[in-house]
Amino acid sequence: MSTNEEKVKLSDKLFYKSENAFDKLEENEKAAAFEYAKGYKKFLDNAKTEREAVKEAIAMAEKKGFAPYKLGDDIKAGGKYYLNNRGKGLFLFKIGTEPVENGIRIAAAHIDSPRLDLKPRPIYEDSELGYLKTHYYGGVKKFQWATIPLALHGSVVLSDNSVVDICIGEDENDPIFYISDVAPHLGRNQAQKTLSAAFEGEALNLLSGSMPYPDKDESDRVKLNILSMLNEKYGITEADLISAELCAVPADKARDAGLDRSMIASYGHDDRVCAYPALSALFDDTLDPTHTVMAVLADKEETGSNGNTGMKSSILYDLIGEIASKLSASPAVVRANSKCLSADVNVAYDPGFGDVFERRNTAFLNHGVVISKYTGSGGKGGTSDASAEFLGSIINMFNKDDVIWQIAELGKVDQGGGGTVAAYIADLNIDVIDLGVPVLSMHAPCEIIAKLDVYMAHKAILSLYNE
Ligand code: MN
Ligand code: MN
Repeated sequence: MSTNEEKVKLSDKLFYKSENAFDKLEENEKAAAFEYAKGYKKFLDNAKTEREAVKEAIAMAEKKGFAPYKLGDDIKAGGKYYLNNRGKGLFLFKIGTEPVENGIRIAAAHIDSPRLDLKPRPIYEDSELGYLKTHYYGGVKKFQWATIPLALHGSVVLSDNSVVDICIGEDENDPIFYISDVAPHLGRNQAQKTLSAAFEGEALNLLSGSMPYPDKDESDRVKLNILSMLNEKYGITEADLISAELCAVPADKARDAGLDRSMIASYGHDDRVCAYPALSALFDDTLDPTHTVMAVLADKEETGSNGNTGMKSSILYDLIGEIASKLSASPAVVRANSKCLSADVNVAYDPGFGDVFERRNTAFLNHGVVISKYTGSGGKGGTSDASAEFLGSIINMFNKDDVIWQIAELGKVDQGGGGTVAAYIADLNIDVIDLGVPVLSMHAPCEIIAKLDVYMAHKAILSLYNE
């Protein structure tokens, strides 16, 4: 009885430790995570805007037998449905075997990302160069969007109400768009300014052409040449751009990062890194839910969740009401017994900027999916703050299902902060907690996540669906 193996250190029993998932996982599970990342990278490349994410998710769902549903349609036990909200938001749900009054298991992520939207009258010419003016969408560091290749994605409504989808800059033979910056040789004044003043919103103009239209009797010939090319290819005029939704996004594809390929560099991890797991868990072959389960892909999170495609709209309330009434249940009881993971990214600890973090309560790459009891700023302002009972039950569920998780706040107290859709779901009397994947350089044109963490987001959401 004197061997060392049998001695259990008291600190091992009493201390909580967050560990690197590479040291905890079996080889086969690491391999599964790396394999999972391949599907995620494809999703990143095919779904750079909310409209594209909806299309991609519907294509995935239809392959798995989900059928289109609109409010008012019949709902049957065991049925698999998706509600497409104006092409920008999506609700996918599978009716379970137990009474729906036992609640719905929901994972809610968002599919809009920071980007540069074209203004209603974007096109102009200056000094024989053609430009498209933009209005940035979401919280961007403006200077990061200059001098990188940008692609244009979106939809244009023509005079006969037909819609033309546009995507220029993604094929390697496509041209790209570009925002210029001043040369360092002439940047002395710029260098004296603060970061936010050094590159202003009105400087985010996409360089879009430099060739004059051949007819010398015409005016604004570079602008005219750009419009004549758009007209030839898509049948659009300058007036059609007024109602169009066109977004400039980074033209790069998702790539493995690091010699060990443990990470993924890409535009739009926030929040595809949670939207994809919400879908992949719903389509997982091992999913066998008794509860009704739902994946929510929301729009407009980056601008405050307002509007009829954002989570502040009544659509989730209405949808749960419809599901309840079609299955002869009380909507209030369904909501009261529902549980939701508000799936959104968190900031990963960055040693290069260590002073903005409080290390004991910060997320680290490769330490698994991040749980946040609350978000908000300035004294938890604006948060929904999940209860001890709910958080405890979620942690116990993850431990049972071997989900590697970590707990974190978003940076130091009073350093800043942020919110998610959790508060709007909590407003419906649904238990909700924030869960996500740690990201380096959040909201930059190219963000970094770790493969093991997105895989753990998949396992965490699957765990809730299967509860
Ligand atoms: Mn987000
Ligand atoms: Mn964000």
